[in-house]
Amino acid sequence: MLDDLRSGLIDAVLAWHTDRLHRSPRELEEFIDICENARVGVETVKAGPVDLSTPAGRAVARTLGAWARYESEHKAERSRRKALELAQTGKPSGGGRPFGYEEDRITVRENEAEVIRECVRRLLAGEALRSLTRDLNSRGIVTSAGGEWSTQTLKRVLASGRISGQRDHQPRSLTQTKRHLIREIVADAVWPAIITKEETARVRALLLNPERNSLAARARRYLLSGILRCAYCRGSLCGRPTGDGRLRYLCKKEPGSNRCGKIFIVASPTDDCVTDMVKMVLQSPKLAEILQANGRNSGDESALEQIAADEKKLEELAGDYATGLITRKEWLYARELLEGRLEAARKRLSSNSQIAALEGLYGDSVPFGEMWKGFSIDRRRAVIAALFERIIVHPGVQGRNRFDSQRLEPVWRV
Ligand SMILES: [Zn+2]
Repeated sequence: MLDDLRSGLIDAVLAWHTDRLHRSPRELEEFIDICENARVGVETVKAGPVDLSTPAGRAVARTLGAWARYESEHKAERSRRKALELAQTGKPSGGGRPFGYEEDRITVRENEAEVIRECVRRLLAGEALRSLTRDLNSRGIVTSAGGEWSTQTLKRVLASGRISGQRDHQPRSLTQTKRHLIREIVADAVWPAIITKEETARVRALLLNPERNSLAARARRYLLSGILRCAYCRGSLCGRPTGDGRLRYLCKKEPGSNRCGKIFIVASPTDDCVTDMVKMVLQSPKLAEILQANGRNSGDESALEQIAADEKKLEELAGDYATGLITRKEWLYARELLEGRLEAARKRLSSNSQIAALEGLYGDSVPFGEMWKGFSIDRRRAVIAALFERIIVHPGVQGRNRFDSQRLEPVWRV
């Protein structure tokens, strides 16, 4: 319209109200300039004629504009406070039906709740989001909107406070429009939980750990990529097919990396050898002893407590802001500090969760071969990562052609 005004194509503007024409003083000034030059008549239904040709008329337009701006900012602030108030009382927000619940956003939909429980269990046991996503899609399980799952949508569901009966909320500032994947938990919700709060804390810890993400991002065709390390440069080995179709692990020299490129080893006997090690250690009574003695939960308790305490503080802070006890700026500042601490606690919890991947897998009564055969490559990798900090690969002895298991030097985690 402004272009048409400039080129003289139109000579009058009819609007419902002045605030339909412009939202900011800057826009108004531009409009005034154009109308002045093009001698345009402006009429509005609600505010009558707007005379931009005289100083008095322009002053009126500017005043109206300023008040319109105030009104819209005020409205935004009011709706932000309203959203926070809803969150703090644990009431649902609007939007589409959440997975696991009925349209009323309160009643649990049991068949979907079962899917959530299963996914949480498998995720905590070390399976990757990607493999869970694939599995859901292959089983024809759809999202609440009836679509296919993506890792993002699944992550959003599993990391939500909602499924453990908690209300999460992300305060939105004027400048930030991005929707956070994992939002703050601000209150106990009015709807029932599908999983426990502790499970939610563990899932969040797992999904927020950046180290895990980088490991998960690697190609998953190889059992040991990222776990094997080069004896010379300590870089991690990656899996690659060779010319004859066989697979191998190698220290890959690339521009921008410090890898030396001197080590490689054939994949399949290496995989077999490490699998044997896993079997041996899982069946040894010693491991069960150590795991029990360590009481793998001791560190968790304090991390979980810390997380709960900090989440509580975040809640209180939000309350202080809502009641006007602190300013928005103070609130945002305090939140940033707390979030840093939360992240550290979640990280601690996550490294303990790695060992949790071994739950129910050790002891001599577990039929290892059968169990291992049933595991996806992600699940196997999770078990291996829980047992080994890394496995160093040493150079082969010249002239020896057979696979030499002596080249593998495991560094155990437990
Ligand atoms: Zn190397």
